[in-house]
Amino acid sequence: MAHTLPNLGYNHDALEPHIDAQTMEIHHSKHHNTYVVKLNEAIAGTELEGKSLLELVEGLGSLPADKQGPVRNHGGGHFNHSLFWETLTPGGASQPSGDLLAAIESSFGSFDEFKNAFANAAATRFGSGWAWLVVKQDGTVAVTSTANQDTPLMGEAIGAEKATAILGIDVWEHAYYLNYQNRRPDYINAFWSVVNWDVVADKFAAAK
Ligand code: MN
Repeated sequence: MAHTLPNLGYNHDALEPHIDAQTMEIHHSKHHNTYVVKLNEAIAGTELEGKSLLELVEGLGSLPADKQGPVRNHGGGHFNHSLFWETLTPGGASQPSGDLLAAIESSFGSFDEFKNAFANAAATRFGSGWAWLVVKQDGTVAVTSTANQDTPLMGEAIGAEKATAILGIDVWEHAYYLNYQNRRPDYINAFWSVVNWDVVADKFAAAK
């Protein structure tokens, strides 16, 4: 079954002024779509067509050697962006509550300390990649960062501890350059205004 580009669930201009409409349109309809198209091309006519996106990403290390590169890049890109759009919303809450807030406070001391750790991971990711809030195998939450389109669920195949991302920020320049140019920290700061903590909390409950 071919992979398809998911709908955003909101308009391109819904996240303004934090993320501008043109960036959203190009990012979703061009960048993300290209990952979907190239993933489909890479697995066309192979047994991998029968696997879900989750199975491909989680099982990266056991795929045929010639498919690991394309799935890592384009499958990872499709997976990461699908999560990204889902966890954004106009007018989101300023912070989580309930079990997720408790888990964050347990791991980081406070919600502000978590924000500092996440923002630092995003700001210091050299080149292109992502910063993440993940649920580790032991059920605790942590901040991590990956290069390019790697995703924490790939685990050993990318030399990382396997974990489930529940929130991520895309720090590829295509995610912010039109509006923020080289000011990545300003984009990271604006990101907090559009996080959908309800969705992140649901993902936390499902992952732990
Ligand atoms: Mn992107």
